[in-house]
Amino acid sequence: MEYDVVVIGGGHAGVEASIASARMGCATLLITGNVDYLGEMSCNPSVGGVAKGTIVREIDALGGVMGRIADAAGIQFRVLNKSKGIAVHGLRAQVDRFRYRDLVREAVLACDGLSLLQDMVVDLAPEGSSWRLSTECGTTVVAKRCVFTVGTFLEGCAHIGAQTVSCGRMGERASTGLAHRLEQLGLRAGRLKTGTPARVHRDSIDYSALTPQRGDTTPVPFSYATNKPLTNDALCWELRTNSKTHEIIRNNLHRSPVYGLQSVQGVGPRYCPSIEDKLVRFGDRSGHGLFLEPEGNGRPEMYVSGFSTGLPVAVQEQMLRSLSGFSQARMIKPAYAIEYVYFCPNQLNRTLESRVLPGVYFAGQINGTSGYEEAAGQGLLAGINAAQAVRGKEPLVLRRDEAYLGVLVDDLVVKGTEEPYRMFTSRAEYRLLLRYDTCDERLMPLGVAVGLVSSEVYASRQAVWAEKEKLRTLLDSTTVGADAAASHTGVSITQGVRASVFLRRPEVSLLPVLAACGLCSSQYSSEVRAGVEADIKYAGFVKKHLEEIARNQRMETMCIPADISYADITGLLTESREKLSQVQPQTIGQASRVPGVTPADVSVLIMYITQLN
Ligand code: FAD
Repeated sequence: MEYDVVVIGGGHAGVEASIASARMGCATLLITGNVDYLGEMSCNPSVGGVAKGTIVREIDALGGVMGRIADAAGIQFRVLNKSKGIAVHGLRAQVDRFRYRDLVREAVLACDGLSLLQDMVVDLAPEGSSWRLSTECGTTVVAKRCVFTVGTFLEGCAHIGAQTVSCGRMGERASTGLAHRLEQLGLRAGRLKTGTPARVHRDSIDYSALTPQRGDTTPVPFSYATNKPLTNDALCWELRTNSKTHEIIRNNLHRSPVYGLQSVQGVGPRYCPSIEDKLVRFGDRSGHGLFLEPEGNGRPEMYVSGFSTGLPVAVQEQMLRSLSGFSQARMIKPAYAIEYVYFCPNQLNRTLESRVLPGVYFAGQINGTSGYEEAAGQGLLAGINAAQAVRGKEPLVLRRDEAYLGVLVDDLVVKGTEEPYRMFTSRAEYRLLLRYDTCDERLMPLGVAVGLVSSEVYASRQAVWAEKEKLRTLLDSTTVGADAAASHTGVSITQGVRASVFLRRPEVSLLPVLAACGLCSSQYSSEVRAGVEADIKYAGFVKKHLEEIARNQRMETMCIPADISYADITGLLTESREKLSQVQPQTIGQASRVPGVTPADVSVLIMYITQLN
């Protein structure tokens, strides 16, 4: 059998990659270990969060499926960080993970041009300019391009106390042998670790001891295509660990696979520590915040967020029962730590294609990232680029000032990662340009260009952009008088001023300004009003960012020849020479971000390349 694109692994990355490639007209095959677990949420039953929620919207704007499915499977929606500026707001949904999985499966099965096969890929070998993939059931397929999205499954191993279980995640077999094969083909691998908390029975908890947390009064969807009301009635619950919990953990640290037994070698995520990590690192705290979250509507499983551990099951039970409201808690699934092989992502180029194995793309947890959103975003880009390559078209490469996905890919391919990489707003130097409410304006034209965004959705967004433009023009051409300003906003000004200029003042907001100008606010949707208000408030900072981007543009886009020999460039520090040879940046901008490379090295490199030309 021969396909244009074969995607290996049906997690969040593989689903986006395979659907995108098929929708772009490529004959596509998705091979995955278990077709009943397509889009499985291995850990938290939620999508989004700060920065991650913006990634989901970016995926949606480019034509991916995660946002639409999260909206349909969501049971509680919140905008996080609302007390802070809009640039760091984050959309988040508690999700019925069983419904999410069903909807992903439906989307895959309904996708024209996409074939699905349950099997495990065990080998990869070149066949002319294509790749031959072999499975454990004896099938062989040839792919012009293939995309590996095998998540935590490569030589995966779960740890609970002294017990170790070979698996990709509990209940699903690990992928054995494939990692070794990829290493034989010349790829550098490493080992990482993550973990998941226990699930407890809903009816075994005394909720009077916990603090409820509700969804927002007006829930905001992820997807620009969602036009149905969102389900938003689930409750989550806040609670804290206490001195008893800490005592149990301390007394059993010697039974932890990380601390006492030292059976885990993989590096874990610093920002998403296990409960024993929290105690070891921040031991003097009286308690650590936890959330109890439903895994589905009407389902018994509750997820104890923040309580991931690798301690033995009997200890986990004691730990759970020490929590307020949990004295009768019944555990349904134990917590565990998982270790797996990943491939260092600085072996990829900006399209997520391997530099070592041309035609082979990598996306998701296999690249050292953690999180459904990061995986889905990479999967979408890898799927688009594999399909673009088959179609003989230009790849889609997003810039750092254009999308969180641009930051993600650039960080991975330039800096690599030695611990699970998760997106934060602080990773983006131009985060004011990457607001969650501007994903459509930033990226939808690109989604349309590659053929993944429908004309109806695009037309509906263009109508919103036109409304924003109308309101901006109105505010630019209307004057607020001194008397009206004082009576509607309480701010005194000596003379009339343009409404858009007046609105830049931090103490002034849009609705009173519209009232002061005698303009009707209700003809503009709350989305249009919020977007225009943020545009005007941030205009000064954005202008500075844009000037800086324009200044750096030459450096950012100046290409480094693929066959450059860093050994031949005199004046480079030895360490920089080694790092640059290893990373092989494609532009001077990328070279400047390689850890250890100094501004002086960058100047030497620019001079060298200028002389070559
Ligand atoms: P996955 O979702 O892992 O999907 C991989 C897919 O590949 C599976 O469907 C599998 O069947 C298939 N597959 C594997 N090998 C083969 C093969 N050889 N042939 C064919 N198919 C194959 N993320 C967080 O953000 N926070 C957390 O706290 C967190 N904790 C986690 C805890 C655990 C125990 C696990 C397992 C994961 C955790 N994650 C967490 C990670 C999160 O689940 C992943 O980031 C996300 O699912 C990665 O998506 P993916 O598509 O890359 O891979």
